[in-house]
Amino acid sequence: MDIRKTLLPIIILAVSAIGAAAQDSEKGVIGFDKDFENKTLRLDYVFAGNAKRQQIHFCEALSGGIWAGRRHSLDTVCLDGNGRLEVLDPETGKVLYVNSFSTLFQEWLSQEEATLTDKAFEECFQVPFPRRKINIRVSLYDIRGNVTTTLTHPIDPADIIIRPVPDNGFTHRYILKNGEPSECIDLAIVGDGYAAQDTAKFFSDAARAVEALTAHEPFTTLKGNFNIVAVAAVSKESGVSIPHEGIWKNTLLKCHFDTFYSARYLTAGSMKAVYDALAGVPFEHILVLSNTAVYGGGGIYNSILTCSADHPTFPKVLVHEFGHSFAGLGDEYYYDDGYDPMYVPEKEPWEPNLTTLADFASKWADMLPEGTPVPTPPDSIEKTRDVRKIWNTLPEETRKRLNGKLGVYEGGGYLSKGVYRPVQECRMKINECEDFCPVCTRAIRRTVSFYTK
Ligand SMILES: [Zn+2]
Repeated sequence: MDIRKTLLPIIILAVSAIGAAAQDSEKGVIGFDKDFENKTLRLDYVFAGNAKRQQIHFCEALSGGIWAGRRHSLDTVCLDGNGRLEVLDPETGKVLYVNSFSTLFQEWLSQEEATLTDKAFEECFQVPFPRRKINIRVSLYDIRGNVTTTLTHPIDPADIIIRPVPDNGFTHRYILKNGEPSECIDLAIVGDGYAAQDTAKFFSDAARAVEALTAHEPFTTLKGNFNIVAVAAVSKESGVSIPHEGIWKNTLLKCHFDTFYSARYLTAGSMKAVYDALAGVPFEHILVLSNTAVYGGGGIYNSILTCSADHPTFPKVLVHEFGHSFAGLGDEYYYDDGYDPMYVPEKEPWEPNLTTLADFASKWADMLPEGTPVPTPPDSIEKTRDVRKIWNTLPEETRKRLNGKLGVYEGGGYLSKGVYRPVQECRMKINECEDFCPVCTRAIRRTVSFYTK
C-alpha cells in the first residue's frame, strides 16, 4: 500500500532437485520437477479499464534464468491478495502453481480518475518454466473478494516466440547470501536514478537498506533465510522525477513521485523496465531504491517496493513498506473521516493484521489474553491521537505496552470505524514506533516459513 494515506510523513546445501521432489511427494504436494524446469517464465500483461470495467491483456512471454521461487506448496497461496495467477493443467484443470498479488492498477480504481477515463498499467509476473503446454489464468478481485475480471490463455513452452530476457550488462553484488535460490527467499534491490557515476553510491545505499531491514525483528532473527542481491541498473540521469517540483528525469525505471497526485507516493513508471533491469538475477521480491532525498515510497503485496534512498526516514519507511510488499501487512493507521473504504464490514480483510470481526477467529483471536474485551477500549493515551508527536517522550514501559498489549482496537486500514487493529501502536501505524506488533511479527514469520519450508 502506498504511503500517501499516512497520518504523518512516514511511512526478505541445496536439497537436490530429487530431494525436493521427494519432500513434496511426502507431503502429498505436487512434485516440482514433474511439471517444471529449473528456469523462469516471465509473463507480461496490461491491466486496463476503469472503475466499472476491467480487462487483462496478455502481452508477451519471456524465458529467464533459474527459478528462484518456492518448489513446495505450489498449489497454495500465502495470502489471498487482490489477484491471483494460476498455472493450470489444460486437461485436468489442476492448479500446478499459484501466486497471489496486489497491483497499482487496482489502487487506481478507487481514484476519481477511474470514473472519468480508461487507463492501462503494466504488470509482470514470474512462474516456473513448464515442461509441457499449460494454461495461465489471471484473476482480479474486488474488496468483497469477488472476481472482477479474469483471463485464461495457453502457453506452449516450445513456442518459438518466447523471447529470452536480454542481458543488460548491469553488475550485481550479493549483500546477503545464505544459500541457493531454491532454498532461500531471494530479494533483489535495484536502483533508479543512479547514473554510471553513481554506482558506488548505489551499492552503499543498498547495503544501508539491508542494514535497516535486518536491524528490525523478526528480520534480524530470520535473515539467514534471505539472499539479497543489489543490481546496479544504470540510468541516464541522477535523481528521479518529482512532478510537484516540475522536475522530470530520464531514468531507467521511470520512478516518480505524485502517483495519483499524492506528493509522497513514489512508484516505478514501468514494471517491464524493472523486470528487464533484473535480467539474469534470480529474484522473488523487488525493492527499488530511488536516488533522491525527497520523502516517499510505496509497497504493493508481491509486486514491488519503492523507497527514497536519501531521506532521513529511509530505514523506517523501507521496513514499513517491506511489511506491505513482502508480508501483505495492512496499514494500521486511520483517518477520522472521509476515506474511500477499502474494507467492508461483511468481508474479513486478507491482510493478517486487520479485522472487520467478520471472521476474527481466522486472525489473532488465538493470541488474545483471556478476558480481553472485543473490541478493546484504548488506553487513555490514545485519546491524544497524535501519539507520534510524544512517542519519544514516553517512558519505555509505556511504549512497550502500546506496542505489545494485544487487543482488538477500533481504527485501522484508513478507517476509524469498522476496521480493527491488534495493538495501539505498531511499525505498520507510525514511524516513531520501531517494532512490529506481535500479530505483524507472527505474519512475517509465517510468510518466511511459507517460502522456505
Ligand atoms: Zn502490527
